[in-house]
Formats: sequence, structure tokens, C-alpha cells
Amino acid sequence: MRMSQLFAPTLRETPAEAEVISHQLLLRAGFIRRSSAGVYHYLPLAQRVLQKIMAIVREEMNAAGGQELLMPVIQPAELWQESGRWNVYGDELFRLKDRHQRDFCLGPTHEEIITDLVKNNVTSYRDLPLMLYQIANKYRDERRPRFGLMRGREFIMKDLYSFDRDEAGLHESYRKMYEAYTNIFRRCGLKFRPVEADAGAIGGTGGSHEFMVLAESGEAEIVYCDACEYAANVEKAECKPQNQPGEPALPMEKVSTPGQKSIEDVSKFLKVNPTDTIKTMIFRADDQLVMVLIRGDREINEIKLKNKLDCLDLRLASEAECLEVSPGGAGYLGPVGIKGIPIYADLEVMALTRAVVGANEPEAHLIQVLPNRDFSVTEEADLRMIHAGEPCPQCGAPVKKARGIEVGQVFKLGTKYSKSMGCTYLDEKGQEQLMVMGCYGVGVSRTMASAVEQNYDANGIVWPVAIAPYQVVVVPVSNKDAAQMEAAEAIYKELQQKGVDVLLDDRAERPGVKFKDADLIGFPIRITVGNKLASEGLVEVKLRNNGDQFNLSRGEVTEKVV
Ligand code: ATP
Ligand code: MG
Ligand code: MG
Ligand code: MG
Repeated sequence: MRMSQLFAPTLRETPAEAEVISHQLLLRAGFIRRSSAGVYHYLPLAQRVLQKIMAIVREEMNAAGGQELLMPVIQPAELWQESGRWNVYGDELFRLKDRHQRDFCLGPTHEEIITDLVKNNVTSYRDLPLMLYQIANKYRDERRPRFGLMRGREFIMKDLYSFDRDEAGLHESYRKMYEAYTNIFRRCGLKFRPVEADAGAIGGTGGSHEFMVLAESGEAEIVYCDACEYAANVEKAECKPQNQPGEPALPMEKVSTPGQKSIEDVSKFLKVNPTDTIKTMIFRADDQLVMVLIRGDREINEIKLKNKLDCLDLRLASEAECLEVSPGGAGYLGPVGIKGIPIYADLEVMALTRAVVGANEPEAHLIQVLPNRDFSVTEEADLRMIHAGEPCPQCGAPVKKARGIEVGQVFKLGTKYSKSMGCTYLDEKGQEQLMVMGCYGVGVSRTMASAVEQNYDANGIVWPVAIAPYQVVVVPVSNKDAAQMEAAEAIYKELQQKGVDVLLDDRAERPGVKFKDADLIGFPIRITVGNKLASEGLVEVKLRNNGDQFNLSRGEVTEKVV
């Protein structure tokens, strides 16, 4: 490629709307342009980076046994109704109607549609395990699209779904994916950490890990231990609710909408005594925190170990006093301005001071309840939040905190979707069994932005070699010098023939401008053909990552660059 022909509109100034470095540099260096909020054009340089990340992702998915397919973006509401998520996914789901007034959505994730596909086309245990994946656009109407490619409303994701005969099979698929993810982010040249996570809005029973690229600008906070392997996101390393010292406790009130029930009624619904201890579980579903009350001792194991997804079907109206009610859940508590719960500290909901407690039934809620005053919480191990410097739950060494960008997540879904949507197979004895599923996502466009967050300096981007748009730029210092131009052209062609991704800066620009652009765009290697060519037969090689510079003879330069 020749720079004179490249469509890479660079900017002199940092655009005011860009808060984080990746957004600033990707705009300035001509990689992306905004179309509307959270929706971007990927210009040719960005497209090359994305293609390289995708190639790595594909290789690792295929090596782990994945088969690539491409599923519809437009998904019928019926499937989402079957799984129960149509009503609980909330405003993040882009919904649309066709000319016959039938409901559809743009896929934010593909559990429903792939479960439907597999259910209709796989019948025997002989066809399992099965791992299917795609790399495609996802659509999420994020409440706050921001930070450029970090939190888009249209973004590229690789999503793989595994279908197994049983839990042991799922465990193996999960292990393969975990390993593949480790390879992907390592090969992309990123510093990252897998951390224990909760299952969020996707749901699932068995466990989950997030892959976090470590960066100050990250929206997520993690705790980790240097002495052992322990690492978790703060939602997972949860907390123990308690009243803030000196905090005046508001009296508990019945919500004044008609039909509200008394604490006696709520207790009755929860099948506990008004004075009973009620166990709770807190988790985060996207931007919302959900606290679930678990009815009576009897059901705790069931919910915790097997059926945590029930809790995930609950969705709180973010600022409501009364809660939205969804089918199939347990009782719950939220939206949670419960003071004194450290996990909420960095969230907007902290502004709300009234906690709501209620049952999963219309109009069965009370506001201004306080944990420990109005009910007690006993699941301390689950609910404790770990602070920096406190002992690691695994080895006791002091833990540390860091910020991270979630670039991938793996989930054990179990039978959440196969059960609600009837995705079964016949086992060796001809018995019908539920398939056991997992799902695994990589944010491809977010990975590109994360790479910039970790690799830049005052002059611009410093791409890791594996995902650089071009590995080498060849810069003739003077366009008017025929010998320089000829040598640059020849080096360019030789490198191309060797399969190196190389760009020739053939523009009639001053050398300073060319060097600045090369640094801004972030090519790992710059080969400069200048005055030393005529005098000593040398060209200059400069490395972007550490600034090292050295001369090579014109003859050996293309041999040495690989
Ligand atoms: P977040 O916590 O940042 O909202 P998520 O947990 O909702 O992300 P998943 O459902 O786990 O995201 O999707 C898999 C991957 O897709 C994420 O790990 C992330 O890399 C990427 N991703 C999710 N939402 C976005 C977005 N709005 N823009 C860009 N990438 C995204
Ligand atoms: Mg997340
Ligand atoms: Mg999200
Ligand atoms: Mg996630």
C-alpha cells in the first residue's frame, strides 16, 4: 500500500469529545470516525487491525474445536419470549417491528437463536459435543455509549456456544475456551488477567471468568493476589451489608402505590416469618445491582448451586420505588442505594437512598428497608467485599486492586437455555436429556481499543507487532531524490514479496510530517531511506516501541526485517 493512496484522514488536534486515550488516538491517527452515538466507521487501518485480531481469534477457536458459522442479526421476539429474556433484557435491547407488526430485535448476544438452531438440527448424543461460533456485529443500546470503541452500541464480538452431553463435558469445553482465550490475548500482545466473575445478564449456573486487560482507564475494578493465582472482579468479591456508622436510619415504609402489601404479606409470600433471617445474594446485571432474597433454608442450595439464573431473570427498574416484576424469580431487593454497602460506592445508584424490599409479585414491596435492621444477612462469605491490603481468600497474602477493561468472558450456562427452550438430545439408552451449554465472548473491537490503551506514548500509538495495521513503513526522506525513491520502492517490493505488511510513504511531504504520521499511526518498524544511501549505502531502521535506531546496508535490510 502507498501512503499517497491510503484513506487515513489524520487530525492535528485531539477531538474534544474523546476522553480516553484509545478514542483520541484512533480518531487522530485516522482509524475510526463516529457515525452516531456509539456507532463507528472502521477505516482501512482499523479494518486491518480488526482482521488481524479476528485471524488470531479464528485460529484459536478452530484449534479448540470450534466451527465457524454466521447467524442472523435480526432475531424474532418469539425466541426471546421462550427463554424469558424478552421482558427482562430491558432498554439495552434494540427492538423493531416488521411491516406486519411482528416484533424482532437486533442480537445483543445469540444464546436464543443458536439454541433454537441446535435444538432443531441435533438429536443424538453422537453429535455432541458441538462448538459453534461466529464473528459478527452485536447491537446493544447501551445507556452510556462512550470511550469510542470501548462501549459502542454496534460492536464486533466473537461468540462461541458449546453444547455438551453433561456437566463433565461442559467442564472440558470451558477449559478449552479458557485456554484459547489466554492464547488469544497473549498473541495480541496484551497484558491481561483472567478473573472470577459473576454471570451477569447472560445467566448460568456453573461459573464464569472475565478476561481483563489491565489499564487505568478500565471501567471494571478487580482484586488480585501476587502470591497466588487469586483474582476476581469486585462484583464477585462481594460484600457484607451493614449500616454506615452515624447514618440515620430511615423508617421502613410501605410503598404508597395501591395494593402494596405489608411486611406480613411479603413474609407470607416469601414463606418466612416476619422475624426470620432471609438469605440474600447480590450480583450485577449490566449496570444494575440486584439483591436477591432467598426464601427459607430449603432453597438456598438449589438457587446457589443450580439455579442462580432465577435471580438473573429479575430486572429492576433503575430508579423506581416499585420493582418491575418478572416471571419465575424469587423475592428481591433493590434498586439499591443501601448505604454502607461498599460495592455500590462507585455507582450512580448510590444516589438513591431508599432500598426496596419485596417479593416477585406485583405490588409486594416496602421501601427504606435496611439490612441488619429489617432483616439479617447471613451469607457472609459470599457477600464480603475484599479491600486492598486485606488477606487473600486463597493464600492470606495481602490482595491488590487494579482497574481493567473486560475484553472477554466465558460462562458455564448449564441448562438455562436448553431447559427453557427445550434443547434436548437422545442418549445411548434413547432417553431424552437436556444439552448442557456454555458461551464465550471476545469483544473484538474493544480488544483493538484496549491494545491502544496499553501501548502508546506522547507521539501516538505503539501497536504490538501481531496486530499492527502494517508492520513496516518505508520512508524516503526526499521525494525529489530519484535514487532514494528507487531504493525505497525496491525495499517496499522486496518486503511485500516476503509477505511483510508494508506501507510506502510516497507522499510529497516534508520528512518531519512523514515521521510524525508514522509515529502517530504506530508502525512497529520504520525504514528511512535518506542521505546515507548515497554516501555510505545505508538505510536507517527505527523501532517504535523503544526508539532504538540503527543503520543497515541497503543490501541486508530486507533480509533482516521479518
Ligand atoms: P460490560 O460489562 O463492559 O458491559 P458485558 O459483560 O455486558 O460487558 P458480555 O455480554 O460479556 O459483555 O460480552 C462479551 C464481550 O463483548 C465483553 O467481554 C466485551 O469485550 C464485549 N462488549 C460488551 N459490550 C460491549 C460494548 N458495548 N462495546 C464494545 N464491546 C463490548
Ligand atoms: Mg461485564
Ligand atoms: Mg454490558
Ligand atoms: Mg461480560
